[in-house]
Amino acid sequence: MTYKVAKVIVDVPSRETDRPFDYLIPDELKGWIEVGSRVGVPFGRRTVQGFVLSLHRESDMDPARMKPIQELLDLMPPLPPDLVEMAEWMSRKYACSMISALQVMIPAALKGKAERYISVAEDEGGQDALSEADAEAGNADSGSLFVVPELLTGEEEEIVAYVKAAGQVTMDHLSARFADRAGDLKGLIRRGILAETQMIKDKVRKKTVKTVSAAVSGEEAERALASFSGQARRQKEVLQFLLEVGVPLSLQEVLSTLRVTAGTVAKLAEKGFAVIEDIEVFRDPYRNRNFKGTDPLERTAEQEVVYGKVTETLDERSYGVFLLHGVTGSGKTEVYLQTIERCISLGRQAIVLVPEISLTPQMVERFKGRFGGKVAVMHSRLSTGERYDEWRKIREGRVQVAIGARSAVFAPFADLGLIVMDEEHETSYKQEETPKYHARDVAVYRAHQHNAAVILGSATPSLESYHAARSQADDNFAPLLLEMKQRPSGSHLPGVNIVDMREELRDGNRSMFSRALHEGIAARLERGEQTVLLLNRRGHSTFVMCRTCGYVAGCPECDISLTYHQKSNNLRCHYCGYAAPAPSICPECNSEHIRYFGTGTQRVEGELAKLFPGIRVIRMDVDTTTEKGSHEKLLQTFREKKGDVLLGTQMVAKGLDFPDVTLVGVIAADTALNFPDFRSAEKTFQLLTQVAGRAGRHQLPGEVFIQTYMPDHYSVIHASRHDYGSFVREELNHRRALHYPPYSRLILVTLSHEKLPLLLRMAENFAGDLRGKAQRLGWYGNLDRFAAEALDILGPVASPIPRIKNRYRFQCMVKYRGPLDAVRLVRETAADTLANLRDASLQISIDVDPQMLM
Ligand code: ADP
Ligand code: ZN
Ligand code: ZN
Repeated sequence: MTYKVAKVIVDVPSRETDRPFDYLIPDELKGWIEVGSRVGVPFGRRTVQGFVLSLHRESDMDPARMKPIQELLDLMPPLPPDLVEMAEWMSRKYACSMISALQVMIPAALKGKAERYISVAEDEGGQDALSEADAEAGNADSGSLFVVPELLTGEEEEIVAYVKAAGQVTMDHLSARFADRAGDLKGLIRRGILAETQMIKDKVRKKTVKTVSAAVSGEEAERALASFSGQARRQKEVLQFLLEVGVPLSLQEVLSTLRVTAGTVAKLAEKGFAVIEDIEVFRDPYRNRNFKGTDPLERTAEQEVVYGKVTETLDERSYGVFLLHGVTGSGKTEVYLQTIERCISLGRQAIVLVPEISLTPQMVERFKGRFGGKVAVMHSRLSTGERYDEWRKIREGRVQVAIGARSAVFAPFADLGLIVMDEEHETSYKQEETPKYHARDVAVYRAHQHNAAVILGSATPSLESYHAARSQADDNFAPLLLEMKQRPSGSHLPGVNIVDMREELRDGNRSMFSRALHEGIAARLERGEQTVLLLNRRGHSTFVMCRTCGYVAGCPECDISLTYHQKSNNLRCHYCGYAAPAPSICPECNSEHIRYFGTGTQRVEGELAKLFPGIRVIRMDVDTTTEKGSHEKLLQTFREKKGDVLLGTQMVAKGLDFPDVTLVGVIAADTALNFPDFRSAEKTFQLLTQVAGRAGRHQLPGEVFIQTYMPDHYSVIHASRHDYGSFVREELNHRRALHYPPYSRLILVTLSHEKLPLLLRMAENFAGDLRGKAQRLGWYGNLDRFAAEALDILGPVASPIPRIKNRYRFQCMVKYRGPLDAVRLVRETAADTLANLRDASLQISIDVDPQMLM
């Protein structure tokens, strides 16, 4: 069957181009173009990258108006058909463009951009301009259809000859080479003697190394060696060496072993005795690391139940989602390892998702330790090239396990059997930029496509997952709940003490450390044990304030205070990148009492140094972890007991397991509770539970102090008792009463424009329009009646950050329930709002199932 037409999604970000375009498949590409192929296609006057969505024998379009695909960019399509199909689903589910869904699935290295090339134009007779110019002496065939070839000046001829010799050069190169002859160059292009073409060029190439091997053998070699003159002694040595080794060696290795020059080897190759070749290699980010191999542990009774359920699904090749609720240290990771082992033995592949891979070096270690070279690591801190190579190992079937953050869920495995999502409640699984997808939804969808299993693991499952498992009400997402309550080590969950900081203040303690935590740290120092201190990052940032007049340095374009960066001594805006030198006097009142309020962690560090002279503090926060590998280094230092205290933000709460940590302190538990976000209680509970699980995981018993100004808050109390069940019951009651997820779903719509009155009017229009539609459909006002189908719109109100990059922002919150297609309704209403306004600078962003309400 031969296809003549391909539907292509082009990489042009606009609403009008968010649909497939038809292109002819040229004869030489027939048989090569597949669904998921990446191609270069002409689009308007440009060449752009695109992805093939489907193949057809004919098109509704006039064939004469259809343009052919210009080039195929990879021999093997970067996207398998199931991912292409999923992109269509994502675009419906998250109201995003097809191209944004497709782009998020492939590594950055493949986001090619058109590059302009110049070559000597060919006329239709197949002759190029130069040969005609050569023949210009007047003896051109008078019967030629072409006009008499143009005369070239000497300068022009030089340029044309240069391009001809090169075959093809980039415009940049050419204009640099002939910088002083721009006029000649432009003239040649204008007259059609040089032609401009565009081709897609990738950001990163496959990496190659130069290798050398002998090109002759046996007798031939004997004769060759004998024929070398005395001068060619070094060449002879090289050839002898190559013959002895018998396999291709890297050129570098030959040069350094024999201490010869590249010229010597090149001469040998010229004579035909050796070949120098570029051989493709994989960049391996873990090449210098040795992972200690581990064997499966004998499963505990609880692990056995979970293992049995999951492997049953794997063996049957059926679809299944499991919510594994297991306390910290209950052996979830061991279950992941063993179920993956089964998955691999069945000839299938597995994906492991972790919230933020640079924070979980121990996870990588455990998977590499168990599966070695079968594991590809998709690490955000890798270079673009390294990430591309890890991805290629997956696409080419060289590995069976992929471990990584959110986007690893798109790992293009051919026969996916299992997706593990560790710490499934973490917000980082939701992408905040377009496409605003949630890796959990994507994982479940992929499992459907592949008849695969999904394990969602957590000590504190998200309320959405837990409720779905409990109620079994949603056909698309009804996980089976599995629980693990014991720790195989036999160790107990640590005792947790709530410290009322108001009482400390009443008793005259103005320090950020309560007396109990202070004593605890002192005791650890004495015994040579370790302490982890957590500061909730939310609510603490480095800003600049004048103590005389109260001036706070803010961004001129966004309504937000600037963040102080110690290293560069400047102030930066988080949202738009605006930067300015830090002032030494207040710009408002000229006072010198302008101060940098350091990150919370810096202040805690200072206080620790004062209270405990000589204490060794390892601080882990955004400032100390910007460099590649810095997390790992800091953790390693702590593990080697070169630090008494590990102090940090959320980062220290994740997946760490140190035998000598016997004390965990939370400096201020409630900073997040005051946030205007309906999930703040849930987030606080999760964080406290997680950090409390860090203490006493081994022989030594652990102790936890939670300092708070809200000691009676239910999230603090239940966390201190490790009581997930009671917390969930109480929290679900609140959610039900206020119609928040999981009892409804949300869509956050943000409108932005530079002019405030216009924006306000458009936001009112949008909300009114949507409300009207919901009323006509009989959904409006149904939330309070607890009806099966309901939709309501709150707002518009100013966004929590009311201005970013000089654009004002208003938002509407859509709450809905039931099987109605609210996303489509919102998307259509947004499109109408945009269509009714000539002003193209109005932007409407749609966030389905938002995690961040800020
Ligand atoms: P989680 O992922 O739930 O926090 P882990 O898998 O990290 O738990 O297990 C916690 C500790 O218990 C680890 O040190 C691990 O080696 C150990 N462990 C797990 N399963 C077993 C088992 N079946 N027998 C003995 N020790 C186990
Ligand atoms: Zn001032
Ligand atoms: Zn800004």
